[in-house]
Order: sequence, then structure tokens, then C-alpha cells
Amino acid sequence: MDYFSPGSLREALDIRSQYGEEVTLLAGGTDLLVRMKDGKETPARLLDLAGAGLDYVQCGEDVRIGAMVSLNHIVENPELREKHPILAEAAREVGAVQTRSLATLGGNICTGIPSADMIPALLVLDSQVVLRSRRGERVIRLEDFVAGPRQLRLEEDEILTEVVVPAGNSLRQRGFAFLKVGKRKALRLSIINLAVKLELEPGSDVIRDIAVAMGTVAPVPLRLRQVEEYMTGRELSEGLVAEAIPLVKESISPRTSLRASKEYRLYLAENLFKRGLELARQRAGGGEAA
Ligand SMILES: Cc1cc2nc3c(=O)[nH]c(=O)nc-3n(C[C@H](O)[C@H](O)[C@H](O)COP(=O)(O)OP(=O)(O)OC[C@H]3O[C@@H](n4cnc5c(N)ncnc54)[C@H](O)[C@@H]3O)c2cc1C
Repeated sequence: MDYFSPGSLREALDIRSQYGEEVTLLAGGTDLLVRMKDGKETPARLLDLAGAGLDYVQCGEDVRIGAMVSLNHIVENPELREKHPILAEAAREVGAVQTRSLATLGGNICTGIPSADMIPALLVLDSQVVLRSRRGERVIRLEDFVAGPRQLRLEEDEILTEVVVPAGNSLRQRGFAFLKVGKRKALRLSIINLAVKLELEPGSDVIRDIAVAMGTVAPVPLRLRQVEEYMTGRELSEGLVAEAIPLVKESISPRTSLRASKEYRLYLAENLFKRGLELARQRAGGGEAA
């Protein structure tokens, strides 16, 4: 097997352009190397992105996070925690600390698995991904990037280089929640996960803005747009949450897997939705219990 470890992004893009699908990108390796060990992937060439200069966090109006930033760094970066605490909350839920010190944000997204924990948290922030090749750069919504389990809308000469959280999404004035149910502590791939971003009208419980995303309930992590539309402009109450639950269940299509049955996932979806909204409401400074 050939192993490339370019010292710059330009060099990495050259190699990617030369070999296309014949070269497999390596980030933290916590997913890929395990799959190689299990014989599920047998790459002819590995392109290691460690030296490509993609391990930066820029907190301007937009927040730009390089694809090679580790999940531990996301947990610990003070500026990022201040601006988008939901990202630290989600990153903390990925595996154990040893996994998080290697696992990268780009790698988490590019596994393309329905249980990737960072995706719902990024979806409620309307995040975009930057895809670079020698031909140039494309910026697309994260929501449009994952096409199915382990399927990405990534051209064969492209590399995901950056995640952008657009301005206007800071959670400083808002409530948020990331919740997950998994099976075991160290290898806790989600049975289900949920992210919520919530903004209330000042001094009331009327919802000004809400975003809800769930993972492991469909082939790809989803924004629950129908639920968001229904709840926006209404007062957050126990009654409203109860009215929204059928819409939550209509929006998702969980299946039975080794980790959980479809029925159990539907039950968890309802419970996580209730708990997530309550936590987000408390953090948004709302009054009445949802
Ligand atoms: C013990 C254990 C526990 C885990 N627990 C969790 C968990 O709780 N939650 C969770 O979400 N995941 C979990 N995982 C899965 C995995 O660790 C994470 O998804 C991790 O973030 C993957 O990132 P990585 O940098 O290691 O990716 P890698 O393994 O290096 O790569 C993953 C895939 O993405 C591609 N890729 C990587 N970077 C790029 C890029 N920049 N552009 C294009 N393609 C790219 C690779 O080619 C590969 O196909 C766990 C794994 C292990 C081994």
C-alpha cells in the first residue's frame, strides 16, 4: 500500500487530483483504520491529511473550523465554546478521550454514518462545508453533503477542508441542547441523538426561532423542518410539545438495527425531543416548564 503524507494542502490536492478514487483520505483514522483492520476497506493508497494545515479554528463573524481539528480541541477551545457551546457538548459525547484526541471534525462528517454525533449539532447551526480541489472551491450546505450512509456528495478530486458556521448563529443569546442515547461508555455510537437551537421572544415563552436535528433515525441525520415550522411563533408549553410529537414521528424513519429496534428508537425520539426542548428552554431563559 502507498502512503502519502503531504506537507501542504496544495500538495494534498495534487495527489488527490492525480489518483481520484484510487486514493483514500486519512484523518484521525479512528473510523478508517478500524474498518481496514476488519477488512471492510482495503485502500490501495492512503493520503494522510495531518500535514495539510487544516487544524485551525477562526472565530470571526463566521466561524471557520479546519477539517483536521480534533474533537478534543472542539471540547476545549474557549472561543468556540463561548460562541457555539453545542459543538463542545456534542464533541464530548464522541467515544472516550483517547478517541476524541485523534478523531477529527472532517472525519466525523465524512464517515457519513447516520450516528455521526457532530452532524446534528452542526445542522442546527446551518453549517456549510468547504470542498476544495485543484479546480477550485465549492461551498455547500452540510444538509446537502451527506447523501446516504457512507455516501457523500464529494467529487473524486475533492477534499473537505473546512466547516463554516455562518454569522447569526451564535448561541450566546439562545438555548440549545445536544442529547444522545448510546449503549456502552467507550464505544457509544448513538442509538439516537438530538440537537436543538431555541430562541424565545424576550420576556416570554413564544418561540422566535427553533432548529431541531436528529441522527440515527433515517439514512442521514435530519433537520426536522416540519416540526420547526409548526412550533415557530407559538408559545412553548407542554401542550405544544405534545402536538409536535406526531410531526417528529412523521419526519423520521428509524429502522431496526443491531443496536436498537425501530419501536425503541421511536420511543427514544419522543423522550429525547421532550428533554431536549426542556433543556434548551431553561438555557434560553424561558419561564414555564415545557
Ligand atoms: C472506540 C470508538 C468510539 C467511537 N465513538 C463514536 C461516537 O460516540 N460518536 C461518533 O460520531 N463516532 C464515533 N466513532 C467513530 C469515529 O471515531 C468518529 O466518527 C470520528 O470523528 C472519525 O474521524 P476521524 O478523523 O478518525 O476519521 P477517519 O477515520 O480518518 O476517516 C473517516 C472517513 O472520512 C474520510 N475523510 C476523513 N477526512 C476527510 C476529509 N477532510 N475530506 C474527505 N473525506 C475525509 C475518510 O476517507 C474515511 O472514509 C467511534 C470510533 C471508535 C473507534
